[in-house]
Amino acid sequence: MSRYISEKLRIKVIEEANNCCEYCLQSNLVSFYPHQIDHIISLKHGGKTELDNLAYACFACNNAKGSDIGTILLPNRTFIRLFNPRIDNWYEHFEIENGVIYDKSDIGKATIKVLNLNEVDRVIERQDMYS
Ligand SMILES: [Zn+2]
Repeated sequence: MSRYISEKLRIKVIEEANNCCEYCLQSNLVSFYPHQIDHIISLKHGGKTELDNLAYACFACNNAKGSDIGTILLPNRTFIRLFNPRIDNWYEHFEIENGVIYDKSDIGKATIKVLNLNEVDRVIERQDMYS
C-alpha cells in the first residue's frame, strides 16, 4: 500500500474533478486552503492509490472524512457507506439550495452527516459563492 501519489495521477484527479471538491462541489479557486487528494476507501480499509479510488476534496471534507467509509444511520442503525464520486452521481444523492446540501438518498444522508457538509460556516461560504 502506497500513500505516494504521483504528479501525473494528482493532475488527472484534479482534471476529472474539474478543480472542485467532489463531495461539496466547492471550487479550489475560491477555497482558503488548497484542496487535497482523498483516498475514497482509505488505505487502512484496503483502498489503493489509483484513479478509481482517488477523489479531489476540499480541506473541510477531507478532514471530516478522515478514514471513514460509512456511518450508522438511525432509526434502523443500518450501516450506510459514504458517497463515492467514482461510482455515484452527485445529483442522484444530493441537491443544493441556497448553500444548503440536502440528501436524496441514505448515502447522501450518511455523507452529509460524516463530512459535516452543512456546518454553518460552510453553508455561509457556499451562499457567498453563489450570490
Ligand atoms: Zn468539500
